[in-house]
Amino acid sequence: MNTSQLTICDIERLLCNDSEQHLERLAQAAHQLTVQRFGRTIKLYAPVYLSNECINGCLYCGFNANSTITRKTLSVDEAIAEVVAITEKGHRHILLVAGEHPTKVSLDYLCKIASSVRERVSALSIEVQPFDEMGYRQLIDAGVDGVTLYQETYNKNVYKTMHPTGQKSVYGARLEAIDSAGCAATTFLGIGALLGLSDWRKETLALISHARELLKKHWRSHLTVSVPRIRDCASGFNMPSTVTDRDLAHMICVLRLALPDCGIILSTREPAELRNKFLPLGITQMSAGSVTSPGGYSNSNDTGEQFHLEDNRSPDTVAYMLKQAGYDPIWKDWEYCNRKENR
Ligand code: SF4
Repeated sequence: MNTSQLTICDIERLLCNDSEQHLERLAQAAHQLTVQRFGRTIKLYAPVYLSNECINGCLYCGFNANSTITRKTLSVDEAIAEVVAITEKGHRHILLVAGEHPTKVSLDYLCKIASSVRERVSALSIEVQPFDEMGYRQLIDAGVDGVTLYQETYNKNVYKTMHPTGQKSVYGARLEAIDSAGCAATTFLGIGALLGLSDWRKETLALISHARELLKKHWRSHLTVSVPRIRDCASGFNMPSTVTDRDLAHMICVLRLALPDCGIILSTREPAELRNKFLPLGITQMSAGSVTSPGGYSNSNDTGEQFHLEDNRSPDTVAYMLKQAGYDPIWKDWEYCNRKENR
């Protein structure tokens, strides 16, 4: 299978054919391409939840403004304790996650946290509210290496229904924000579609188009794509569109073939057996030992999780599984360089 220049029409054809034989060929090609580009390696990371306070009304999320969960935003000291707790388990790639709350999770707050935990980790990314280019530059100066911002769905009508209130209700603002992060020259950019909101084949096509635009414009950044499926959460949301395990495998293979050099992330939203099974399809990054509530690593008080996790294995257990499967678990592949001081 020649994958060097797959056009959108080629990708559509790859997505539409659902035969067993076709999927088998896709899986083999995706595996070969991944080993060629990334070796047999899987980068491990962990999310650290800073806050579950949010002004948005995303229907599918346990943190949405209407949810009755106990709210919590970590202090700087509590955030440091979380990072210490997760780095003691081996993690060096950390993703700071927070609901979108302009005052409680402000730019200033995030810069303080980033500069406070920076020296303890190798790579530091954020998955928080969108900022403009100037804001991202400030975050980079404070020590942030990467920005993750999922569009959630590329179907504008579904987007409108799923995001009825709050700043996130503006579809175009999210696309502009990840572009701004690229303009600020963040080292890592992460995008994704939340699977289960709309037709997965159309989401795959749109995700690939978005990724290619970003790659073309922000060629200095490393791009990753994520394929999270909706999970149970406090809002009791049910998936409006089904994405089976087979669909997910199909999507991952096509993403790999269309985006040969992009990282592909499979998180602990998926069960352990499925994550083990999907390893050879093109996955390059996995979270491990995650919790999705603020303070969850260093304090067992339940402040409400964003969604239910399916793979509860410890980081060590995931690393052992990877080695058994012939992969190198990568705890660190990045060394922080203070760009502000080096300018
Ligand atoms: S998905 Fe993000 S923005 Fe939406 S309610 Fe949840 S935390 Fe807030």
